[in-house]
Amino acid sequence: IERTFSIIKPNAVKKNAIGDIIHTFESKGLRVAAAKLTILSKEKCELFYAEHKERPFFGELVSFMTSGPVLLMCLTGEGAVLKNREIMGATDPKKADAGTIRAKHGDSMGENAVHGSDSLASAERELAIFFDKHELV
Ligand code: ATP
Ligand code: MG
Repeated sequence: IERTFSIIKPNAVKKNAIGDIIHTFESKGLRVAAAKLTILSKEKCELFYAEHKERPFFGELVSFMTSGPVLLMCLTGEGAVLKNREIMGATDPKKADAGTIRAKHGDSMGENAVHGSDSLASAERELAIFFDKHELV
């Protein structure tokens, strides 16, 4: 069974949408295998988004992602990485298919409600940043 890393971003936590988002994952066959509600430090957030360091939106992205609580999760299921990306929808909520989490809860390109790993390798790298081995059963 595959696992992936998911973040419910500060804008979605703020609007009390944690339950709705988790329900969407569960109803489509993903399982929450680990979770923690926390506020990201600037250091960990910059490490997590290191691949975007040179992008013009990097500063804005880090300041948004550290602006309030986020829910960090390990999701498991068959084909979890790709399935999660499908359930989230396109990065830009305006382009996200109806029924996806970003179409419903995304506010903008930056404040797009959720993060999901884009590959198996990214998933393992990202899970290792935020979870200890013993927290991932
Ligand atoms: P994520 O990695 O968060 O799941 P993604 O893979 O769909 O999203 P990336 O290209 O990896 O998108 O960008 C990472 C995050 O950076 C996006 O989720 C979004 O919040 C932010 N971002 C991307 N492009 C822009 C932009 N043009 N302006 C502002 N923020 C952006
Ligand atoms: Mg990405």
